[in-house]
Amino acid sequence: MTLKETEKICPICGKGNNCQHGSKDCWCKHIEIPKYVLEMVPEDKRGKACICKSCIEKYTK
Ligand SMILES: [Zn+2]
Ligand SMILES: [Zn+2]
Repeated sequence: MTLKETEKICPICGKGNNCQHGSKDCWCKHIEIPKYVLEMVPEDKRGKACICKSCIEKYTK
């Protein structure tokens, strides 16, 4: 399974999210992303593209 370009990009900041989408071992599956951070993602990208680590750190406080 190949990644779509949009799935490699953080929907919040537009930088690479380093997501291993499609593989079960994506780092994003092992951390908890607060609901309010997920809600910052545009609806059409929610659940498709991962948020990058720096955004999660930036908004999780
Ligand atoms: Zn980001
Ligand atoms: Zn991911």
